[in-house]
Amino acid sequence: MSEGHRTMSRIRDADTLLQILDQLPTSIFVKNEKLEFEYSNAAHCNLIGVPADELIGHTDHDFYPSREAEGFQQRDQAVLLTGQTAEAEEFVTSRAGVTAPVLTRKSRLAAADGHTYLIGTNTNLSDIRKREEQYRALAQTVPVGIWQVEESGETSFANPLLLAYLGIGSEAIDSAEITARLGAHHTDFPGKACRFETDLESKSGEIRRVLIISSGWLALSSDGHRSALVSVVDISEMTELKRVNDEISRLNRELAENVKRLKEAQDEVLRRGRMAQLGNLTATVAHEIRNPLGAVRTASFLLERKLKDKGLGVEQQLLRIANGITRCDNIITQLLDFSRQRALQTEEVSADEWLGRLVTEEAERLPSVVAIDCKLGAGPARIEIDTLRMSRAIINLLTNASEAMVGRGDEPEKFVIDDPRITVTSQLTSRGLSISIADNGPGMTPDVRAKIMEPLFTTKSFGTGLGLPAVEKILQEHEGGLDVESLPGKGSVFTAWFPLRRTSEKVA
Ligand code: ADP
Ligand code: MG
Repeated sequence: MSEGHRTMSRIRDADTLLQILDQLPTSIFVKNEKLEFEYSNAAHCNLIGVPADELIGHTDHDFYPSREAEGFQQRDQAVLLTGQTAEAEEFVTSRAGVTAPVLTRKSRLAAADGHTYLIGTNTNLSDIRKREEQYRALAQTVPVGIWQVEESGETSFANPLLLAYLGIGSEAIDSAEITARLGAHHTDFPGKACRFETDLESKSGEIRRVLIISSGWLALSSDGHRSALVSVVDISEMTELKRVNDEISRLNRELAENVKRLKEAQDEVLRRGRMAQLGNLTATVAHEIRNPLGAVRTASFLLERKLKDKGLGVEQQLLRIANGITRCDNIITQLLDFSRQRALQTEEVSADEWLGRLVTEEAERLPSVVAIDCKLGAGPARIEIDTLRMSRAIINLLTNASEAMVGRGDEPEKFVIDDPRITVTSQLTSRGLSISIADNGPGMTPDVRAKIMEPLFTTKSFGTGLGLPAVEKILQEHEGGLDVESLPGKGSVFTAWFPLRRTSEKVA
């Protein structure tokens, strides 16, 4: 035992004890065998609204409505007779007419003074009742379905929203059915605390997405019985909102993509329009010039024959005339490649044979410093092409590759590299035949790369800017296309591809 412990309390005087009892919130009263009040603490006086000195020596009939008093006294008598403690909820009306619910406990005391007394206490239930009412009102109005189920399986509470979600009336509550419908895929529901989403179907077939939260078994009541509180929250709208949100994002992305494609399509229409106009003009001009140019070539040829070996010293001039004619001729060929409007005249040839022969012929014509490798890999594949036009496309690509490295091949000091090389490769792919022409020239800056398909775009002093647009057009007529790769400083690869056979006999 510690030193400060007292075995005897200091409080031995009755007045001090009564003072203490007056401090308690619980009302306490004592009646004698005649049921007259012998004692009342302050809380009890308050409850009745009568001071202690008016109370002592009087009975319930002096303060309460007679029916109320009758009830109290009957229960008092029973306790005095049987000696059994009684507990009951009662309503107590004060002298001022205010009725309050109380929990009353009464017991019999055979006191040391030889008398028998009735000892009573009242606990005011108004506050607790008010709180209960508030909870109930809350449960009726929150936008959450609420279900309280006892461990015994009995439903002790279900709010109207829960019943609406389930599509049942309050008279049709069946705990087993509710358990099955809310927690179909969850064993131990609702006894184990849990939280999950599920689709809840009402009796009328309405399906909503809900979040279900169970508290698990809790000792919620004072008698030790356990029950679980289950809340059901409708999250269909949230789910729907999220779906709508996702859908809008997707549409936005699609819209951006479509706007981009529309812009590309517009650009393409403009480009084609310009090409067509230009095509008409160049075709006319080229035809008109070709005939007089033929006459000039014939005349210069005759002149050369006549003046040859005459010692007139005009060889230089004659050479310049011949070169000029060749140049004009090349330009006209380019113009005609670009503007050619006639339908394709296709024939079937062996891809590699045709390409091999073409590259060999061109190798003769290109500056001899340019080495040409030919890697033919199409095997026995045969293709259906307009050989004249397709040859022009390949020749254009070979010429460009050569020009990128050595210009026109006549000014070695302007060569971009020492070891100019063109590699021609043919192979079969899923797109048909593909022919790539790779060079180890200077490549293209992104700026130049972006414009090379525009008619009249050229970076050369002697260029026409019609080569690549013509190549692209020829490949498109063959239902193919042109891929361009360029590594600045390393070279370029132009890959022409087209199906072995055209699907339609369309007019170009
Ligand atoms: P042109 O040859 O008359 O200039 P093209 O349409 O054939 O016209 O080519 C357009 C431009 O594309 C060229 O001026 C050049 O700048 C660029 N180009 C084409 N082929 C190559 C290549 N193999 N390497 C580098 N640039 C090239
Ligand atoms: Mg060219």
